[in-house]
Amino acid sequence: MSNEIPVARTAGELRKALDPHHQAAKSIGLVPTMGALHEGHLSLIRRARQQCDFVAASVFLNPSQFNNAADLERYPRAEEKDVELAGEAGANLVFAPSVQEVYPRGFATQIRVTGFVAETLEGAIRGPEHFYGVATIVAKLFNILMPDVAYFGQKDAQQVAVIRRLVVDLDLAVRLEVCPTVREPDGLALSSRNVQLSAADRERAVALHVGLAAAAAMVATGERSAEALLGAAREAMQNLDVVQEYLALVEPDSFREVQKLEQPALLVVAAQIGQVRLIDNALLDPATS
Ligand code: AMP
Repeated sequence: MSNEIPVARTAGELRKALDPHHQAAKSIGLVPTMGALHEGHLSLIRRARQQCDFVAASVFLNPSQFNNAADLERYPRAEEKDVELAGEAGANLVFAPSVQEVYPRGFATQIRVTGFVAETLEGAIRGPEHFYGVATIVAKLFNILMPDVAYFGQKDAQQVAVIRRLVVDLDLAVRLEVCPTVREPDGLALSSRNVQLSAADRERAVALHVGLAAAAAMVATGERSAEALLGAAREAMQNLDVVQEYLALVEPDSFREVQKLEQPALLVVAAQIGQVRLIDNALLDPATS
């Protein structure tokens, strides 16, 4: 097959494959994923392809960031297809280690990003271990691959804020590139979990996007009160029979709530749709009216 790319299973194998590129001062891009690749992931790989000499995508379903065993159990797995899709999108290599490789016997180190950005919203609902798990695996991937640029999706906005904190606080020599959320034609943000939605739930799932869009439309008419914007989003979601798990207007970096839209702020939402927990967000910019 024309796009067949190598798969490294261990840190040693990966370092060996990357060594010549590091030596030749080639720029290396890393796209971390948990697999079951969709157009969202592929957009990150394509962006990396445009910007870097060598692109590695990692596929690792990281157990330490799952707070719910059933969620981990149900999470879709499709490694063979992932390697094919990653190659087609322009990756040069896939790093797909086993859980044993990443967390060998005796593993006892954890990276904890603490404070408001990690402890609110996703951090509060999923528990502190979630972002500890994210920070630890991302730090490990950065150490193993030593990428110049790492690509993340805006869809997981709080994850981006936590990783920004990690990079600044630990002086990590990597640039973060955040790519826009890729959506279905009706606005539902692509997610590996979407395949688990029943047909009826798939229809309701658009409610997150509809809620965000309702608030954005109010911003365009001049509304600046967070309470009013949140109310509009909540009502639009309720009309589709969806109740939010959280809905908040926050500063994009600190994730502190804002009362009035004076600077661009993130409207973030999570909702349980049937068996599936979905998140989404939109940047609301007061300069848009
Ligand atoms: P995941 O496999 O869900 O951990 O996602 C891997 C990366 O892809 C993360 O940086 C996500 O934010 C990003 N991503 C997931 N869904 C989308 C999407 N719909 N659009 C853009 N990026 C996404």
